[in-house]
Amino acid sequence: MILHAPGEALRLEDVPVPEPGLGQVRLRVLACGVCRTDLHVVDGELPRPKLPLIPGHQIVGVAEDGRRLGVPWLGWTCGECRYCVSGRENLCERARFTGYDLDGGYGEYALADERFCFPLPDGYADAQAAPLLCAGLIGYRSLRMAGDAERLGLYGFGAAAHIVAQIARHEGRRLFGFVRRGDRAAEEFARELGCEWAGPSDEPAPEELDAAIVFAPVGELVPAALRATARGGVVVCAGIHMSDIPSFPYELLWHERSLRSVANLTRHDGEEFLALAPRVPVHSHVEEFRLEDANEALDRLRRGEIRGAAVLRIEP
Ligand SMILES: [Zn+2]
Ligand SMILES: [Zn+2]
Repeated sequence: MILHAPGEALRLEDVPVPEPGLGQVRLRVLACGVCRTDLHVVDGELPRPKLPLIPGHQIVGVAEDGRRLGVPWLGWTCGECRYCVSGRENLCERARFTGYDLDGGYGEYALADERFCFPLPDGYADAQAAPLLCAGLIGYRSLRMAGDAERLGLYGFGAAAHIVAQIARHEGRRLFGFVRRGDRAAEEFARELGCEWAGPSDEPAPEELDAAIVFAPVGELVPAALRATARGGVVVCAGIHMSDIPSFPYELLWHERSLRSVANLTRHDGEEFLALAPRVPVHSHVEEFRLEDANEALDRLRRGEIRGAAVLRIEP
């Protein structure tokens, strides 16, 4: 499924099976998660994607030697810049991203730099493993950035929050879920996943939060989340794109509250998270689509209709 220009639907096309270059592995794709970032790429909200592009950066595939591997968003880094050499390869200025700078997993075959692939835990079926690779991984990094907050607010209850909630409960934190006003199904889903309270994001929380993670790409939620946090609290913005943040009084940041974003992932995050997920154990709720129905999956995600994560299943 190929993107020719932002704003257009993906097109189902036959292309040659890609030939691996030095250090690359060729995977037959079994499943590929559909991420909100894919939506930002397709809708033209992120600048300069490779074009034409095969999107998708939560790839579960099988290598020619039979190994089942996962391919995440971080597809390549330079290894020599000040970020790479200080354990912050997620910030590499020359990084290349899967399904953005590099062709991704909305297809039958994908190439990946073997150094950036992860072996996947055995207990997960292909479709269930796919959302671990971005929703899970970036969610996990966001949770680490929230520190040891006991009372945690999650804004936007999609693929990432549904995995983070399970880890946070496993760690003994108390959870509060904020969803779009009127989205009863999302409120109920948040409660099922361990939120002791779930309600509309424009309503005050029942008590102060120690941290909040904003997954929804909605700038208005940032001052709302700051307002909901206690002194010393942290607000983490977990998405790659967000609408403008409205101005807000300094009072909301005062008393050592902090506001930060989370960008991409390191391979270290991946190793830690994929070891942790089966121990929790994280169960991913997925809605499966055929490869040729990728546009429908993206539309449903855009309308907030996916419960958990959307995943494309690729039949051989
Ligand atoms: Zn670098
Ligand atoms: Zn993603």
